[in-house]
Amino acid sequence: MSRIFSGIQPSGELHIGNYLGAVRNWVRLQHEFEAIFCIVDYHAITVAYDPEQLRLRRRAMAVSLLAAGIDPNAATLFVQSQVPEHTELTWFLNTITPLGELERQTQFKEKAQRQESIAAGLLNYPVLQAADILLYRADSVPVGEDQVQHLELSRVVARRWNSQFGRPTGSTNEDGTEEREQFFPEPKALLTPTRRIMGLDGQAKMSKSMGNTIGLLESPESIWAKLRPAVTDPKRIRKTDPGTPEVCNIYHLHKAFSPPDTVEHVAVQCRTAGWGCIDCKKVLAESMERELVPIRRRAAELADSPRTVDDVLAAGATHCRALARETMDAVRDRMGF
Ligand code: SF4
Repeated sequence: MSRIFSGIQPSGELHIGNYLGAVRNWVRLQHEFEAIFCIVDYHAITVAYDPEQLRLRRRAMAVSLLAAGIDPNAATLFVQSQVPEHTELTWFLNTITPLGELERQTQFKEKAQRQESIAAGLLNYPVLQAADILLYRADSVPVGEDQVQHLELSRVVARRWNSQFGRPTGSTNEDGTEEREQFFPEPKALLTPTRRIMGLDGQAKMSKSMGNTIGLLESPESIWAKLRPAVTDPKRIRKTDPGTPEVCNIYHLHKAFSPPDTVEHVAVQCRTAGWGCIDCKKVLAESMERELVPIRRRAAELADSPRTVDDVLAAGATHCRALARETMDAVRDRMGF
């Protein structure tokens, strides 16, 4: 079975942007691939953070993922810092990654602009990401479009490492050079089908730091308090103005949560000014409830049973440590250690 790896930062409870943009897809993929899902807490410390909060958020993320449908019998779920080989492989890969390649990463440039002092960890973030994937010699990585550049870097790093340290196969390449084993597969992108989920302000991607999210475990009242004033088609000023659903974030949330006949009805009602935006949002709130009620119920059960979550993460870490050790034994050997 082909192996996939994907990671998520321990930002606490999942929001619907994470859920629709990644996790709902993971739940499907866990039955089609040998899936490894990681709570990437080393990535979370490249910006200022509170250690106590980090502990709480790591656990809250594990609860959210399990509640959202990650099944420990189908996939492996673990916390990155419980497998120390991630940082060891990062160091090895750092030594073959040119500085310029890291400085050109769009996410680094964007984040660096917002900070006065830039930690080296922020620059090296994509190398840690490459190490996460290559440590398990994953074949593919489910990613959103904004992660494709980082994945490309992982592919370049794998290729470079193979050509420098892979064992000679005894054959020659077409250009006459010595062929080397492809120890690390070049991980392929499995693009997540859901388009980027915008925040309730309709301006930026849904993200905790932007304060424009709906939490996956929020109460129906709290969700409605956020949906009610959420931005819609800016040209629909009055109820009698026909709208353009494609430019409205609420319509895209309908596409994610409502059945196809409802989505069609929404589009017709919007274009013909058959209803107002509040009517439309009420239907969306009902669709969301249908999907979120069982998730909330599972999360409450898990919160009452912390041992279950600990056991899942411990079993995941044990499995991943064994895989990681196997990779690192080979990497150390080929790199002269
Ligand atoms: Fe958006 Fe619905 Fe209002 Fe149309 S009717 S603008 S889809 S909220």
